[in-house]
Amino acid sequence: MKTLTKIFLTGSIVLSSLFANAQKFELNDKGFPTTKGIIEYAKYQEKTKEAINEFNKKFNFNSEEAKIIPTNLIDYLDEENYSFEELGLYFYGDREILIEKNEVYYGYSLKELNTELRQRLIEGGDFLKGTIMHEFGHYAVCQIAENLKSTKIKPLEYYSPRPFSMKKETFGSKFIEEGIAEYCSWKMNEVLFGKTPYVPKNLEELLDTSNVRDIYYEYSVYYLKDFLDNLGFKTGVEILITNEPPTKDEILHPEKYFSRLKFGELRFNFAKYAGKTLKPRWE
Ligand SMILES: [Zn+2]
Repeated sequence: MKTLTKIFLTGSIVLSSLFANAQKFELNDKGFPTTKGIIEYAKYQEKTKEAINEFNKKFNFNSEEAKIIPTNLIDYLDEENYSFEELGLYFYGDREILIEKNEVYYGYSLKELNTELRQRLIEGGDFLKGTIMHEFGHYAVCQIAENLKSTKIKPLEYYSPRPFSMKKETFGSKFIEEGIAEYCSWKMNEVLFGKTPYVPKNLEELLDTSNVRDIYYEYSVYYLKDFLDNLGFKTGVEILITNEPPTKDEILHPEKYFSRLKFGELRFNFAKYAGKTLKPRWE
C-alpha cells in the first residue's frame, strides 16, 4: 500500500502555472489530477503499457499483466485496514492494481514538475505514476515469490502474496516489503525525498507512531537501496523474502541484518552491499 506523504511548500504559489509541459490529462484549478483525468490516465496505461514497460526495463524484470483500476479505495478496505492515506492496493490473484480515483495526487508524474516547483517541494508529494510504480513493486514481489515456490528455496509466510488476513506480517516484514515497493517509485524518480534520509536513532524513535511514514516509506528505501542496486532487483528480492525479516534491532543496525542473509546454500558478505553508510545521504 502506498501512503500519502507530506508536502511542504515554502510559499503560496499557483501550481498549475508551474508545470513545465502542457498536460495530457485534466487538472483541477489547484493543478491536481481530476478523477476524469485519473480514469483517462489508467485507460492510457492500459492501451500503451507505458508504465509497466518502463518498470520492466528499469528493473530488468518481466512483470505479468495487471489491470490498473481507478476506484474509491474506501470500498475495498474495512475500517481496520483503511486509512485516508491509502492510494493504491494490489490483488495479485486477480491481476489487479487499484488506484484511488479521487483528487488526492499532487500530479500525474513527478517528472512533469519544473525546476522551480521541484525546489519549493522540499519532499514528498504523491504522484499517480509513483503510486502505480509502488504497486507494481508489490506486484513484482508476489510474482517473484510465486516463481520461487517451485524451487527448493521457499518464500517465507511473512511476505506476499497472500490476502491481508493470512499474512504473518511483522514490523520487519512490512518494513522490507514497503521498502521494496517504495524503492521502485524512488528508482523511477517518482518520489522526492529530503536531502538526507530519515534514519531512526534508537528503539524509541523506531516505535514512535509519528515516525511510521518516515520509517516504512523513506528509511526502508535508504536501508535497501545499496543491496537492491548491487544484487539486482529480482535477486535482491529473492534473498529478502526467503530470509527471516529483520528484527527491530536489525532495522536500526542494517549490517546485522544483511550479514546474516543467505540464499539457498549461498552465503556471502551481503553486508557489503547494504545501505549502512554512517553519514546518511541519498545518491
Ligand atoms: Zn505499499
